[in-house]
Amino acid sequence: MNLLPRIRSSLTFKALVLYSLVALLTSFGVVVFSVVIERYDHEAHAQAQGLALANASAAALAPALLKGDFAVAELTRLRLTGQAGVIDIRVLGSDGALLVPGSNKKQNRSGNTNPDFLRALAVGRTSIRAKNGVLYSAVPVFGFGRLSAVVQHSYDLTLKKPSTFSLVIKNLWRGLVFFGLAVPAGLLIFIRLVAPLGALNQAAAKAATGDLSVRLTVKGDDELGVLSSNFNTMLDRLKTNFDRTRWLAYGDSLTRLANKTAFNEQLQKLVRLERPPGALLLIDLDGFKRFNDAYGQDEGDHILTIIAQRLRKIVTAQTPKFAAAAGSARPLLARLSGDEFGIIVPGARSAPEIQAMATDILDAVAVPIKLSGHNASLSARIGIALYPHDAGDARNLLTSVNFAIDEAKKAGGGVWRFFEPSMSQKAIRRMTLQNELRQAMRENEFVVHYQPKIDVREGTIAGCEALVRWQQPSGKLVAPGLFIEAAEESGLIQEIGDFVLEESCLAAARWAKDGHSCGVAVNVSALQFASNDFTKTVFGALKRANLPPSQLELELTESVAMTNPERMLEQIGPLRKQGVRFAIDDFGTGHSSLAYLTRLPFDVFKIDQSFVQSMTEDKHARVIVQTVLAMAESLGYRTVAEGVETREHFAFLQLHCCDYVQGYYFAKPMPEADLVSMLVAEKENLARTEPRAFAEAV
Ligand code: C2E
Ligand code: MG
Ligand code: MG
Repeated sequence: MNLLPRIRSSLTFKALVLYSLVALLTSFGVVVFSVVIERYDHEAHAQAQGLALANASAAALAPALLKGDFAVAELTRLRLTGQAGVIDIRVLGSDGALLVPGSNKKQNRSGNTNPDFLRALAVGRTSIRAKNGVLYSAVPVFGFGRLSAVVQHSYDLTLKKPSTFSLVIKNLWRGLVFFGLAVPAGLLIFIRLVAPLGALNQAAAKAATGDLSVRLTVKGDDELGVLSSNFNTMLDRLKTNFDRTRWLAYGDSLTRLANKTAFNEQLQKLVRLERPPGALLLIDLDGFKRFNDAYGQDEGDHILTIIAQRLRKIVTAQTPKFAAAAGSARPLLARLSGDEFGIIVPGARSAPEIQAMATDILDAVAVPIKLSGHNASLSARIGIALYPHDAGDARNLLTSVNFAIDEAKKAGGGVWRFFEPSMSQKAIRRMTLQNELRQAMRENEFVVHYQPKIDVREGTIAGCEALVRWQQPSGKLVAPGLFIEAAEESGLIQEIGDFVLEESCLAAARWAKDGHSCGVAVNVSALQFASNDFTKTVFGALKRANLPPSQLELELTESVAMTNPERMLEQIGPLRKQGVRFAIDDFGTGHSSLAYLTRLPFDVFKIDQSFVQSMTEDKHARVIVQTVLAMAESLGYRTVAEGVETREHFAFLQLHCCDYVQGYYFAKPMPEADLVSMLVAEKENLARTEPRAFAEAV
């Protein structure tokens, strides 16, 4: 704000202008007063002078009058009348007759009723009266103890009387001196009085900008002192309320950490090119949901609180390492959602600097947490991105760190991953693929192929596995390995899976109707299995197709079965009861506890093709396959070996009593029509030859 308008709008200035006006009026009053006093003084002086002259004239005339020498008296009178200011001098006898001048005695003898004369006569003392600028005096002259005459004296009081203008000019200095002293004095007083108001104003302005730490130090018990104290109290209250509101808006009440809003705001502030570099860590707890579902929300909250405390400890311990490079910025730890935490670490400039923190976090999360009667062992996955290296703004940085955490998730959790540009390219490709898959679903481009499973003992087609394919308009048939993962990530697998289940049940029902006893095995994704409607969907598909449940087998991978064993039992219980069989797909690749896995209510083990295919060269693979087959036999499970490509594979499996085989050695996955042809051919063949001849032939 410009200085001049500021001064003009200031309270001091306004008060001073008002005060100056009053001072000006007062100065004017002083001048007027001085003029009046001086004029009065002058009149009094003139009267005294007139009186003195009257007395002196009486004294001068007295000798001649007492002698009765009126000629001398007249001469004296004339001389005295010539004095400055004297208008007239007359001498009256005690009877009031004019003695001097005597020329018009008769005229004056006719009774003088001059009041001065009469008064002087009455009291025997000098009498004076001022009228119209003339001082009339009557001075008695005594001789031989009696009044012999009265000297009447008229004196011009206006003689040398100064003009009003000259008096004003003469007294102007008084007004000027008064004004000259009053204005600076007033200014000083106002400045002193208004000074606390200035401080109050500044404090209020600071508080208005959000700085509530400001305090007033105006002491005293006058109005300003009280105002200052009230102002401070008001700020205290405001600050308390503000802090509380801030906490409600920016705090996570469970963990007492910052919340997502605070985190995002801080990220926006810190991730700028001009700010010191730093790192962003996103931490996701693996398996938290499992504990939360299994032990309830209270135990879940307990886990989160403990994890938050451990994270806080690590951040506090590592902060000094980055303090020098961070400038004024401080690290921020926040809970972003259920089991997701975020840390902003200003000052972390390179990957090696932040690795130690990430490792500490993984170790801290892995320490078991005591729950009521149980121990929770969790792990975390961490995505890390560096700014401004990986992204120059908060939004892109969050995208980058999400790519990194996705990679950590894909690696199975319990690891950290730094963002790499290739991740975003991969993600873009994945997103494009997901869009194409959605389009394909709308355009009904998915088809189901069936791969026969051969009964090793009977040598016949015992069933088949339904395997989805993407039949592109160009004619290209895309294998599921290229799109299943993307479909799982986008959630589209649910729709695809439902479609495959529906199609497979209908197909199997058609085969049964045509007299072919060929059950169908359908793959179930984790997402499908986790859905609450899973059981209902399967029953619905069976019902719509009118397929006996015993003709349907559902394949789950180890990881799906192990993610939530309790839930798994709930899901498969009713279906198994009705005759639906369950198989563990890709058995041996999920690193699950064998003891636990074999207790789950499955019917079939599907030995993964990687073991089958390396059997011929790899002794270990052979031992594994052999062991699994022996174990399954003694535990009462059926076995299917996948990926049987050679005669040697088959011979080995046959030797070790594998129940069913599936692989290119027998048949590749094929459209339904081809499978039906195969079934028909087999039926005709069987009608001609003994079933066992098939097994011998292969
Ligand atoms: P999977 O369930 O283990 O299916 C067996 C895979 O092995 C199939 O691959 C099959 O074509 C292939 N295979 C069979 N015999 C041989 C062989 O002798 N040699 C070789 N090299 N491979 C053989 P495909 O059809 O590409 O399917 C791959 C995976 O995709 C499946 O593994 C399954 O996990 C998944 N998948 C397929 N269809 C579906 C589906 O409808 N739903 C779900 N959720 N997953 C599916
Ligand atoms: Mg399968
Ligand atoms: Mg498999």
